[in-house]
Amino acid sequence: MMNQLDDLYQEVIFDHNKSPRNFGPLENADHEAKGFNPLCGDKINVYIEMDGEIIKDIHFDGSGCAISKASASIMTTLLLGKNKTEARELFEKFRTLITVEHDYDEATLGKLVVFAGVREFPTRVKCATLAWHTMQSAINNDGETVTTEKNE
Ligand code: ZN
Repeated sequence: MMNQLDDLYQEVIFDHNKSPRNFGPLENADHEAKGFNPLCGDKINVYIEMDGEIIKDIHFDGSGCAISKASASIMTTLLLGKNKTEARELFEKFRTLITVEHDYDEATLGKLVVFAGVREFPTRVKCATLAWHTMQSAINNDGETVTTEKNE
């Protein structure tokens, strides 16, 4: 059973890595940020079009390992139409899932549960969270390159 679950999870990550959703620049982006994970070499750029507090559209591009790209891809599908607070809350839940928690709320996390196994590989946590830190920076418009050296 556990192995089948792992296979399913790997399939989702493989799929989003091979065919990333919302990939490429966003013409009407009014918020953007660059993220860099020096441990793995992942580079993720996030582009957001905000409508007040709402994420009206969100894209990403860049290059990186399968985990960083799949996480970014799934993130864009989940954050579309969410407001800033919901985006931050989902990030916190995701971070908890992949760092500490064994009992998680699948209804809230959706496809993000495929990253639960990342918990066993602490260096990969930074791959999985890179896009999320970058998204947060884009929303805040703080204009700095996000590096995982400062974040977890
Ligand atoms: Zn990586």
